[in-house]
Amino acid sequence: MPARRILQLGDPLLRVTSSPVGSPGDARLIVRDLRATLAEFRRAHGFGRGISAVQIGEPKRIIYLEVDGTPYTLINPQFEWQSAEKFRLWDDCFSFPDLLVYLERSVSVRIRHQDLSGGWMDLAAAGSLSELLQHEMDHLEGVLAVDRALDGTSLCTRAEFERRFRTAPGSGQQPERR
Ligand SMILES: [Zn+2]
Repeated sequence: MPARRILQLGDPLLRVTSSPVGSPGDARLIVRDLRATLAEFRRAHGFGRGISAVQIGEPKRIIYLEVDGTPYTLINPQFEWQSAEKFRLWDDCFSFPDLLVYLERSVSVRIRHQDLSGGWMDLAAAGSLSELLQHEMDHLEGVLAVDRALDGTSLCTRAEFERRFRTAPGSGQQPERR
């Protein structure tokens, strides 16, 4: 179960467009390493819900999530639908764990993807699973949360975020956890 190094902001590989997976069964080893890397990140940082293959140096269209104890493996995912209705949140990323970004995502999405046996299926999501999926889908296109910052006040270090928002009960703005 090798956890791998997570590429950090500035690594040009994070900016490439990931390639389709020709044979989903061949993705098993990458999925295994994504699972191990997510588990290791959680141990080190105390949060973490999703990772894309490019973040461990494999620019393939593979996303791995664990949300509320449920694992999701998405191979060759594509949006079927994104709601016009949006919401705003503080987002973060394994590739820049000490930075938060205020941005906008669709409230709901529907994504078609393959599993490891090659079968196609649909995943419909709303709220926090929806924004997580949009974050990971962006990685497959080389897009990072920092690119979606709403304006000049939308970037915040984690330490400043804690100072600014966590110390003000009822401020209402909590970070979303990748
Ligand atoms: Zn990320």
